[in-house]
Amino acid sequence: MARSILQGSSRLTWRSSCMSRAQLAPRIGAPCARAFASKPVFEEKHMVGLKVNGTRMMDTLHATCDFGKAHPYGSGGPTETGMARLTLNDDDKKVREWLRDELIGLGCKVAVDKIGNMFAALPAQENGLAPIMMGSHLDTQPTGGRYDGILGIMAALEVLRTLKENDIQTRRPIGLVNWTNEEGARFPKTTLGSTVWAENMALEEAWDMKEVPSLAQDSRNLCNVKQELQRIGFLGDVEASYRAQPIAAHFELHIEQGPILEDEGLKIGVVDRAQAYNWFEVEVTGRDSHAGTTPFNLRSDPMVAAASMITQAKRVAEAHGGLATVGIIQALPGSINTIPHTVRFTLDIRHHETAALKQQYSATHKEFESIADSQGKNVNFTLKIWTLNEATKFDEGVVDAIEASAAAALPAAEAAGGKKLFKRMVSGAGHDSCAVQTRLPAGMIFTPTRRGMSHCPDEYCSPEDCELGAQVLLGAVLRYELKDRRKA
Ligand SMILES: [Zn+2]
Repeated sequence: MARSILQGSSRLTWRSSCMSRAQLAPRIGAPCARAFASKPVFEEKHMVGLKVNGTRMMDTLHATCDFGKAHPYGSGGPTETGMARLTLNDDDKKVREWLRDELIGLGCKVAVDKIGNMFAALPAQENGLAPIMMGSHLDTQPTGGRYDGILGIMAALEVLRTLKENDIQTRRPIGLVNWTNEEGARFPKTTLGSTVWAENMALEEAWDMKEVPSLAQDSRNLCNVKQELQRIGFLGDVEASYRAQPIAAHFELHIEQGPILEDEGLKIGVVDRAQAYNWFEVEVTGRDSHAGTTPFNLRSDPMVAAASMITQAKRVAEAHGGLATVGIIQALPGSINTIPHTVRFTLDIRHHETAALKQQYSATHKEFESIADSQGKNVNFTLKIWTLNEATKFDEGVVDAIEASAAAALPAAEAAGGKKLFKRMVSGAGHDSCAVQTRLPAGMIFTPTRRGMSHCPDEYCSPEDCELGAQVLLGAVLRYELKDRRKA
């Protein structure tokens, strides 16, 4: 049943007469040449009443979730499953092929770069200009849901469909990008595709990255990124670079993945920043000895030190207005009646200001030193840096366009409730838009997430909220284009 929805939209409704010209067009992501040359570009008045089709978008979203659906929950309804669409696996191949056909059907030329990022844009008045892109990702966690990343791509596609069917002509092309391996689950680097495109990681290093054994089909024979890109037919020939494939601005609709919007009864988050975050591995060493025969005053117990460090990391984070999380802990040798000689734990600390995170880190480190000292001279610790990520400040022009669009999409509700149903907010998680913003303008829109739950099968955003998010995306992109045109 679901598959017929897919074919209905891609094959019947959106067949494009300029498809063959599009395939010949020389420039990446751009534009089939027919290009509506004689048509006037849209004006502000054309935005009045312009609406995305929420039903069509949700039908497409759920139909494409057949590629990789897993982990049924609830009463077992057709959309009550999670997802296991690991990047570059067979289901990712299928959904990519479907997306490519769909975009070609809309009149776009699809370009694939050397890390498998897919770019496409509708024809516009000036096809040589860098496109305004709407991007996110189609890969999921092994026990992921139907919305993280997927909603952003489906909303982008719905915006393109809406522009096409309403014959909206823009000066600068508007398009879609599907970034490779945002999740970093199968290949352990989050936002891999956008990071390589931003030239913040070398292509060869990304290509050589091996899949993690726990998610490999054959853990004795691990594949790397390049082999898998080749196998599924998405090792493109376009340079993976923001210089080769520039973007005028990047808009990303994403579920919040946290509880704030729902808790505050809000509908849209206008994301103007993303948190800085650091990952460390802390190793605390002491002396292993017998649990029954060693009195407290003669112990060098790294576990007691580690326990204090963990609670103190939280206190320091609270005092600085940041966050601290210990997700993995390991004690060696791991025996009930032996005081461990080594305890290792991971530490994830976050703050929305990079400078404040540095202060939080220094204060945490100082606390760790005094805790280790208090446990006697045989207790020591080392702190290994795994990753340091600075805070992202999204582009004001992009954020303003999103905010104006949210204000336009939510006026009735605002009047009724007497309060705004959107607000500016910080992203707690990293996203492809953060990688884009290191080079070119980007911004994000958040939708509410049921109970703040994400990276789980029953991750959920209501159809109404998804539609509203897509509507804000449409309005934001058009407002940005209009402003950009007036500046030109
Ligand atoms: Zn995501």
